[in-house]
Amino acid sequence: MAEEKTYALEIEDLNVEYHVDKEVVHALNGISFRLSKGETIGLVGETGAGKTTTGLSILRLIPSPPGVVKGTVKVQGEDISTLSEKQMESIRGNVVSMIFQDPMTSLNPTKTVESQIAEVIRLHEKCSKKESITKARSMLEMVGIPGDRGVEFPHQFSGGMKQRVVIAMALACSPEILIADEPTTALDVTIQAQVLDMIRELKRKYNMSMIMITHDLGIVAEICDTVAIVYAGNIVEYGTLEDIFNHTAHPYTVGLFGSLPNMDDRTQRLKPIPGLMPDPTNLPQGCAFCPRCPKATEKCNTVRPDLVNIGGDHAVACHLFKEG
Ligand code: SF4
Repeated sequence: MAEEKTYALEIEDLNVEYHVDKEVVHALNGISFRLSKGETIGLVGETGAGKTTTGLSILRLIPSPPGVVKGTVKVQGEDISTLSEKQMESIRGNVVSMIFQDPMTSLNPTKTVESQIAEVIRLHEKCSKKESITKARSMLEMVGIPGDRGVEFPHQFSGGMKQRVVIAMALACSPEILIADEPTTALDVTIQAQVLDMIRELKRKYNMSMIMITHDLGIVAEICDTVAIVYAGNIVEYGTLEDIFNHTAHPYTVGLFGSLPNMDDRTQRLKPIPGLMPDPTNLPQGCAFCPRCPKATEKCNTVRPDLVNIGGDHAVACHLFKEG
């Protein structure tokens, strides 16, 4: 009998809620995907689509209750809901690490950068303070910062360098899975390219699996193997880069590409997607994209489409497409 494959990460029907005042925010509504070792998946969508919540769920950092109300997250085959808080602490940073969007919120302004990286190392590895500082300095060098600058404080670094420090911290314990949450959004364009190159190189070196959370399809094209387009807490289209870029299917994904400037045809006006994402405390009964969709029909108003496979790994949640 063939052995069942163990994925680096398996997310199955994940539903997450937040309670705000007396309202229930339906942040994730049935997200499922798998990530193999060394693979990079891009989670793409607008602000509020549920991308960061997905990342935080993998680290079990969602306020609970209510938190995860349904579904499972398996890290290296292990269901994290069954783990104690102590076991989760050894997973965070060690097996799964996350780079957050704004480096300033991830760094303590009162501590030197090397002491902050060293702290992460000592949390997961048995070593002396001196050894952890030596390793912290070599991590800084790995991300292109001279090791002797480790004695400086975060405010003495530029935005790009601060993000490099955060990346060094996230990689300090060689995690198996790296979640990069818009890691270059706070940086200017030239620094963005450098940081992206560095992430790609480190990922290759350590053969990590990666989740790249972004709203930038250019970053996806450069760095990802597979793509999940997320809308209102659901994956509405999933596929390889080729599927998503060359065989775009879902009207929302078509809209995302339509709102990008076309360098070959600069006479064409951009076509923004009209309207806003639905209120997550009051999602439409049918397809969540229905109020903005140019192809909506009667059925879309009342029946929520399932994610169906339309060939190979390409899957779409839209009534315009049939299985196969
Ligand atoms: Fe548009 Fe209907 Fe498809 Fe939703 S299901 S994306 S409303 S056509």
